Amino acid sequence: MEKALELKNLFVKVAQKNILNDVNLKVKAGEVCVLMGPNGAGKSTISNIIMGNPKYEIVSGDIILNGEKINDLKTNERAKKGLFMSFQHPSEISGVTMANFLRTSYNIVKGENLNVGQFHKLLKEKMADLEMDGKFRSRFVNSGFSGGEKKRSEILQLMLFEPSFAILDEIDSGLDVDALKLVAKNINLLRSQNKMGIIIITHYNKILDYLKADKVFVLKNGLIVREGGACLAKEIEVSGFNK
Ligand code: ADP
Ligand code: MG
Repeated sequence: MEKALELKNLFVKVAQKNILNDVNLKVKAGEVCVLMGPNGAGKSTISNIIMGNPKYEIVSGDIILNGEKINDLKTNERAKKGLFMSFQHPSEISGVTMANFLRTSYNIVKGENLNVGQFHKLLKEKMADLEMDGKFRSRFVNSGFSGGEKKRSEILQLMLFEPSFAILDEIDSGLDVDALKLVAKNINLLRSQNKMGIIIITHYNKILDYLKADKVFVLKNGLIVREGGACLAKEIEVSGFNK
């Protein structure tokens, strides 16, 4: 069986409005796909529908993970099957520390039961890989984090959970160039060591200087209008989405 995440003839409604109109997209294990498109095209809708956000309704079509249709699975069930999304706008959870939040989610998603000490060791390692200050462990989740710090905390989750497929929604927005390089380096490692399949939603080509894309998809009005290799992203940078 081929390891892949696939959207097949997907039509999706949000708040009574048709947003995705026949989307076909496939990412295989170990591939990095880039999803581009103008504001409001439906990119975040794709990531929400893949993760099973209940506000988004599949009108027809399928989401297939490793050969299995997952249209009707709840978000936590999808996470346990190895799906992950990072939020375009990560939420703040005051009163809950990063360490507690991450350990609880880690144990649920991975079906493990690490105690505080065991998890601390793992967390320390991953935070060091991301050059994150240890102080973040005791801060409330995303509370008062800068834009770039929020994005880094999403990548920290990605590195801890090691999903088989991840959708990273504008993970590069708000990152300075050093953080961007570090994030790209860690994504490259996850791709090569874990064979993670990754969909990156982005407006910028900068991250593609450090991360080789296998495929580029352009979404417009809820439809994939172009598909190509990494050079397609370069072309769009020059000529825009309207060519
Ligand atoms: P993108 O990420 O490509 O900028 P989105 O997927 O966020 O676009 O949104 C696509 C369209 O769907 C937009 O017109 C947006 O306003 C609309 N939309 C998305 N989510 C909702 C929602 N929860 N309620 C109403 N409209 C929504
Ligand atoms: Mg979006």
